[in-house]
Amino acid sequence: MAPYRNFKMIGYVVYGRGCFNQLAEILLPHRKENAPMIFLVDHFFNGKELAEKIPLRGNDEILFVDVTHEPKTSYVDSLADTLKGKYDRISGIIGIGGGSAMDLAKAVSLMMTNPGKAQDYQGWDLVKFPGVYKVGIPTLSGTGAEVSRTCVLTGPERKLGMNSDFTPFDQIVLDPDLIANAPADQRFYTGMDCYIHCIESLQGTYLNEFSKSYGEKALEYCRNVFLSDHTWDEKSDEQLMMASYAGGMSIAYSQVGVCHAVSYGLGYLLGTHHGVGNCIVMDHLQEYYPEGTAEFKEMVKKNQIEIPQGICKGLSDMEFNKMIDVALSMKPLWENALGQDWEKKITREKLRDLYEKF
Ligand code: NAD
Ligand code: ZN
Repeated sequence: MAPYRNFKMIGYVVYGRGCFNQLAEILLPHRKENAPMIFLVDHFFNGKELAEKIPLRGNDEILFVDVTHEPKTSYVDSLADTLKGKYDRISGIIGIGGGSAMDLAKAVSLMMTNPGKAQDYQGWDLVKFPGVYKVGIPTLSGTGAEVSRTCVLTGPERKLGMNSDFTPFDQIVLDPDLIANAPADQRFYTGMDCYIHCIESLQGTYLNEFSKSYGEKALEYCRNVFLSDHTWDEKSDEQLMMASYAGGMSIAYSQVGVCHAVSYGLGYLLGTHHGVGNCIVMDHLQEYYPEGTAEFKEMVKKNQIEIPQGICKGLSDMEFNKMIDVALSMKPLWENALGQDWEKKITREKLRDLYEKF
């Protein structure tokens, strides 16, 4: 394997308060005759002002997507099949929402041009053809889904992204106004995803100057946003949006770590949402990230968040074992966190003890 990762970046980026209003102009050169733009919009915005501002033309369509549960491969297939049944071709897919809506948009774009089912492409570099033109517009900041080369999906057999050079967006629209009214707890859970990306990247063995340059800036912004006395104003929205971007760039060249590996187990078995699961786990990671865990607890307190407790109470041995299997299958995450001899450092017993705490 080549020693250095040669990764594909997103195409275009527009950033700034109110830049959503430039969307019509941005889409224009990508419109094909009789081929609509399809807006996949987080169902939260149904009936809200943002949905009214979407620049529809011709036979464009808005599809409100249900993100009550994080995206499943079956949902991606049904959206792509509906669109293929209705239109000979489409000009593009625009995902508007949090990480879930953006990931759905990436996946549907790819499934418009790749044969078979979305589950066939869960893994690394399995996607064969570029998707249709795709745009990501975050309304929550923290996941880094706007910059990443994956879209996380739960399939019949695994929870894993379609990780490929065809996955990154062609365009992203970063408008801090769009995240301004998110509820405090959701803003925190998604924001903490970014904080944890930074801790795991900066403390990982894969770290290099490239990752560090982004990770340190993102961490500084997270501290401003979640620890200062002005935790919620226009500036903090701007900083949180750029923290998410930079945090995503940091892990593009490094990797996440213990918190994400363990959180994936919760997500797979219990359907725990990514940001919430990460917070539940981070609350107990003193052994692996002592400073990060202490600072995380300070942020929880400062923002008056109640982290869910007792979610693993009463689970069977089989269920604990399933979560442990999922966590241990995330090999690169453990290697980044604990080094090449990670298998000697993390045991099933240790993981069982950890899961018992949640
Ligand atoms: P989310 O997209 O799952 O949304 C959480 C909730 O917030 C939903 O109920 C949604 O309707 C609502 N919401 C969205 N925007 C809102 C707003 N402005 N105001 C009020 N409510 C709003 O949350 P998330 O934390 O952004 O994303 C998590 C998802 O991202 C998971 O599916 C996870 O797997 C994925 N993820 C992807 C990557 C990647 O690189 N592709 C990285 C991390 C996480
Ligand atoms: Zn994450």
